[in-house]
Amino acid sequence: MVTRFRGVTRRRGILLHGQGGWGECAPFEEYGPDEACLWLRSAADAATSGLNIPAVRAEIPVNVTIPVIDPEAAASRASSSRCRTAKVKVADQNSSLESDEARVRSVADALAAEHGDAARVRIDANGAWDRDQAVAAITRLNQAAGAVGGLEYAEQPCQSVDDLAWVRRQVDVPIAADESIRRSDDPFRVVQAEAADLAVIKVAPLGGVRMALELAQRLEIPVVVSSALDTSIGLSAGVVLAASLPDLPYACGLDTGTLLGADVVDEPLRSSQGVLALDSARAILQSDALRESDVDSEARKELRDSGWIERVESMIENLA
Ligand SMILES: [Mg+2]
Repeated sequence: MVTRFRGVTRRRGILLHGQGGWGECAPFEEYGPDEACLWLRSAADAATSGLNIPAVRAEIPVNVTIPVIDPEAAASRASSSRCRTAKVKVADQNSSLESDEARVRSVADALAAEHGDAARVRIDANGAWDRDQAVAAITRLNQAAGAVGGLEYAEQPCQSVDDLAWVRRQVDVPIAADESIRRSDDPFRVVQAEAADLAVIKVAPLGGVRMALELAQRLEIPVVVSSALDTSIGLSAGVVLAASLPDLPYACGLDTGTLLGADVVDEPLRSSQGVLALDSARAILQSDALRESDVDSEARKELRDSGWIERVESMIENLA
């Protein structure tokens, strides 16, 4: 990672290649086999069946993601991205509400100056707040985003579905569910409990593009497609999903390639003028030239020493 993000400084994972093309399996280190096996299923689906799924759009609007960095750096990252929408990480263990507020304000001011009424700012707390903290923080951060008319939405302010539902009744800002969808035994509880206005869906944690598409169609709320700090392979699968959804009312969180210090393809998937192209994603999934230099003997040794081989074996057992 270029910058620490949701506590992560380094990403590790495996890529699968088959007659369908490339698939990525990079569950976060703390995920156990029951959760990680869905990521393997996703990679295996892409590599075997391929992701040639009918699309309804060729370009996917994306948001720029702003990690916990100082307000000036945040504003310049937002402006230089050319994206109209920014997602600002908040409630990180390295940030305070005051610094979150300064960062949100600085990003909102920069995007409003650049894109006027089309500018949007959303926040993601990764479930870090309790109910009362969430209501207080969302209220203050909504004011800090005054230049763009307030927050577009607040993503996963609290961990539990009940808390999300409670917070949603207290604030005017729409609530998005992320972890409550992808780390839950029952993603439909969010809808039943009226806990969110929209759902964040991610390819790998939901078991692949086809499973995510099916879930999106069954959820009765709008969805936004995001990545899980993937390489260009995983991001491309997200683009295929976003391109196939009948409705896509929000900019997607698929431009996170810039958060990685290195990638696995020579021409990484990057947005241009705030959009990602489906053609580029399809080319990456079908590409036969990965960067061999990054798969050197040191990387192979690290893979053996890191316990990943045992980890994949346990994912396979869980899938079976
Ligand atoms: Mg999130």
